[in-house]
Amino acid sequence: MNLILFGPPAAGKGTQARRLVDQHGYIQLSTGDMLRAAIKAGSDLGRRVESVLAAGALVSDEIVIALIEEQLEASTGAPGFIFDGFPRTVAQAEALDAALARRGSRVDLVIRLVVDEDALLERVSKRFAEQGRKDDNPETFLTRLEKYNADTAPLVPIYADRGILREVDGMASIEKVTFAIDKALREAVA
Ligand code: AMP
Repeated sequence: MNLILFGPPAAGKGTQARRLVDQHGYIQLSTGDMLRAAIKAGSDLGRRVESVLAAGALVSDEIVIALIEEQLEASTGAPGFIFDGFPRTVAQAEALDAALARRGSRVDLVIRLVVDEDALLERVSKRFAEQGRKDDNPETFLTRLEKYNADTAPLVPIYADRGILREVDGMASIEKVTFAIDKALREAVA
């Protein structure tokens, strides 16, 4: 089962992905986490992308696609993957299809966390205060939201046309969202 957790920044993708990992043993592939780890480690890649993340812009397709391919390679035999924060562009979605097809696999389900943008702003200012993630500051967050609407939201009709898109109310409690995702997963394997 390969699942994409889809939605704007701060919709709760990371939180839900970690819960799915605990419950089902899937492997979470978060390009945001990978990039932050590279920055923290001070690697070449980290130095190249640091200012991009700080600005709330998108890292190049080439870089994030290479990261995902590396991780897919390193995780053969996994029961499934949860893609969190990837794909974010049409080119990334195409690369993901191709990478999975080479492994005799495919995207089985896309869960879209539907959230209200004003509520998101509130949620993210709370997260900024609690966790101090630099790109959660209100100005950068708005840039991230704009990027989502311009570059990532166009993926919605693509997955909807394939019949693999399910929408979940991302404004509900964490437990309720997990429950709704589990239901969609059960329906997808039935
Ligand atoms: P996230 O933790 O998913 O919100 O990602 C944090 C930041 O990492 C984003 O604002 C982008 O700068 C960068 N990033 C993460 N994933 C991608 C991706 N798939 N494509 C381009 N940039 C990404």
